[in-house]
Amino acid sequence: MIYFKNTLTGTLDEFKPLQHDIVGMYNCGPTVYGKVHIGNMRAYIFADLIKQVLIRDGYAVHQVINITDVGHLVDDGDDGDDKVETQAKKENLDVKTITLKYTHYFFEQLRLLNIDDSDTMFPKASEHISEQIRMISQLEAKGMTYTTSDGVYFDTAQFPEYGQLGKIDIKGLKEGARIGHNNEKRNPTDFALWKFSTDNRLQEWESPWGIGFPGWHIECSAMAKKYLGTTFDIHTGGVDHIPTHHNNEIAQSQSAHDAPLAHYWMHANHITIDGKKISKSIGNTLYLEDIVERGIHPLSYKFWLYTSHYSTLTNFTFESLEASDKALTKLRSFVTSIDSTGETDESYVQTFNSYIYTDLDTPKAVALMFDLLKDDAVSDQNKRATLLDFDSVLGLDLLNTSLVTIQQDTSIDPVITNLAIRRTKARSLRDFAQADALRHEIELAGYSIKDTDSEDGFVLKKKR
Ligand code: AMP
Ligand code: ZN
Repeated sequence: MIYFKNTLTGTLDEFKPLQHDIVGMYNCGPTVYGKVHIGNMRAYIFADLIKQVLIRDGYAVHQVINITDVGHLVDDGDDGDDKVETQAKKENLDVKTITLKYTHYFFEQLRLLNIDDSDTMFPKASEHISEQIRMISQLEAKGMTYTTSDGVYFDTAQFPEYGQLGKIDIKGLKEGARIGHNNEKRNPTDFALWKFSTDNRLQEWESPWGIGFPGWHIECSAMAKKYLGTTFDIHTGGVDHIPTHHNNEIAQSQSAHDAPLAHYWMHANHITIDGKKISKSIGNTLYLEDIVERGIHPLSYKFWLYTSHYSTLTNFTFESLEASDKALTKLRSFVTSIDSTGETDESYVQTFNSYIYTDLDTPKAVALMFDLLKDDAVSDQNKRATLLDFDSVLGLDLLNTSLVTIQQDTSIDPVITNLAIRRTKARSLRDFAQADALRHEIELAGYSIKDTDSEDGFVLKKKR
């Protein structure tokens, strides 16, 4: 049996999926306006761990991680410029190039952290505008929306359960706390579903309400519905998503569908440096490449994360990371020094399962690995087999002895992106010889290209 701490109920709940062998899981993904930092990556290591634990218990997992490439405004009160567009102007690149660049950077971090994304779906907000418009229309038809001079808003007064996730103190919300500069909002908690374009918009679409772009929250509701159905099992994010983004998702989806959005809501806590949340806006960001620059394996960061529970606010220091790096090296050296594998030790396996099946208790699982290492009653071959069995969940890649080196800039080279765009154009013109030649060129440069149904038509990845 698996138990998860469920933010929706506030208790440790036994996991009971909607279907007996398949789990649907939606993980709120990155806004691709900059490089994802080590704090951001906790959210995806956490999501992957949930997935691996479920797979270990015999489930197939349908995982969706959205890519936010439009609609996330600088100010969470539905004000300010679009984060992606602001960055595009700053770097003097078009929006597509910016979003591809940082999406690929994100994919690269997943690879460096040995996160299993082989069958994960990564839908982009900008490619699901019609789904978002459809959902807003449904809400409008139910009388849940109203229009102001700058957009269409969700009327939270029409959704009495608003704020149930994390038991948000709505009445205690200071007047104006979420109003921003918009004094046409009926309630502080109301939020934009569709915003009307202003003069300098780089991304905009036609809609029944006028030319504009979707609000940030509607993308998750619309894409979750499309890929996982009206109600699915698990929804995750960072703790910062609880008060606004996830309560807004619940309000929209449940109003549109008259059904729960997700049964289990799980949230990873933040990583701080000197007690301050790692954040682009504070300017205290740290990236995996900064870790590698110090000669530390990226997976040592993953291991370091496991030494504290995902739900704890955890302060990062290089000192503690170095200790994790040593500990992981010890495990890796042991596993690679034994040249034949024995059998898993069932008693250790059961203990390990009891830890990870109880709300992903990785600190205990990590301690258990060292207990095992010290245990003279278990042969080295069996220790090796047992550690590798644990590793199939923890994803520490214990058999990999090579230290990963990252180039200074791990984003996909814009030249390669350009080749891929040209290839897509060649394909659409049915010039397959040219398309093949371009694919060859891309592969020679060390990338793989996969065709998708998306508007871009492809996903690029650096080869391992
Ligand atoms: P964003 O791209 O800003 O939407 O954030 C992507 C993910 O990273 C979200 O799940 C956030 O909750 C998470 N996140 C942002 N900052 C931190 C941090 N310092 N520590 C842990 N997670 C974070
Ligand atoms: Zn979301």
